[in-house]
Amino acid sequence: MVIDCKHVWEHISGFIDGTLDPAVREMVQRHLETCEICSAVLDSTRNILILTADDRVFELPVGFSERLHARLDEAMREEPPEN
Ligand SMILES: [Zn+2]
Repeated sequence: MVIDCKHVWEHISGFIDGTLDPAVREMVQRHLETCEICSAVLDSTRNILILTADDRVFELPVGFSERLHARLDEAMREEPPEN
């Protein structure tokens, strides 16, 4: 089974929290190794989680993922991913 970037974005917080099903986690991991866009998403998501870790808040700021997805959609239009 192959997952695309949008699937990875949906799973990224679970990936960081370690709550993903092992099979899903492995697919996400594999995708991240080959996809620059998703690696960047992982990094920025991690940074936000680290910033909020002191208060044990592991939710993304309201609107974050919408803005992120919009930005990514833009980036992908400019640079279509290889198929
Ligand atoms: Zn990707």
